[in-house]
Amino acid sequence: MQRIVIKIGSHIISEKHTLSHERLKNLVEFLAQIMDKYEVIVVTSAATSTGNTKLSLDRTLLINKQVLAAVGQPYLIASYNEYLAKYGKLSGQILLTPKDFKFKKSKQNVKNVIEAMLDYKILPIINENDVTATEEYFFGDNDSLSSLVTYYCNADLLVILSDIDGFYDKNPHSFKNVKRFDKIEKVKKKWLKDEAKGGSEHGTGGIITKLKAARFLLGKNKKMFLCSGFDLKVARTFLLENKQIGGTLFEKLDA
Ligand code: ADP
Repeated sequence: MQRIVIKIGSHIISEKHTLSHERLKNLVEFLAQIMDKYEVIVVTSAATSTGNTKLSLDRTLLINKQVLAAVGQPYLIASYNEYLAKYGKLSGQILLTPKDFKFKKSKQNVKNVIEAMLDYKILPIINENDVTATEEYFFGDNDSLSSLVTYYCNADLLVILSDIDGFYDKNPHSFKNVKRFDKIEKVKKKWLKDEAKGGSEHGTGGIITKLKAARFLLGKNKKMFLCSGFDLKVARTFLLENKQIGGTLFEKLDA
């Protein structure tokens, strides 16, 4: 069985900064389907917005974000499990920090528990530990966390379910007449370099961290697929029928 990592951006399962149960239900239906074909590991965001479902705090303060994550994370996993139960499936939570990837022993520890969960057919659901993560010491985005999980857990492919349905020649939210790339074999340095200047016509923010993740994975002969997490048809067709009808596949020619 092939092993894959599915990264779920916070927009995919939240609406107006709160958890969207409707979207989570759709997503879980998709996860349950692909779990019959693949060994699946999930990296999910949305702890803070899930916390915001329960109480409203000023999210500009780090301490409040930590409190919202502390409230939201268990509720998020409980919601995943509530919907997974309908398909006879169970998940477990793994919260990570960059320290977990710093030492050989801690990396092995993460890997061991994920392997054991997959053996027991439990869906590992990973998130950055947003409660203790502070600005000096955190991943900051789940794109890099999910690329590390893909590599260290020997997965073949990372699927990023995003609010954008692929990588374009220009930011589709700021430019007209844009073109989506179906396939990328090499992530060009200039796409990443412009970040320091606050972005370029090729992209800013969220797409840069995805391109960095792709660059890392292509260097390790792994694949990455970026597609929409709102309409899951493209991801479903890609994973269940081996057909690409949208999205962007980052894959080396000789991989
Ligand atoms: P998510 O939270 O779903 O992981 P982000 O919002 O962080 O995703 O990043 C995706 C966003 O990156 C898109 O919505 C888009 O506004 C922006 N973006 C900038 N440049 C590009 C580009 N060249 N191609 C695709 N998206 C781009």
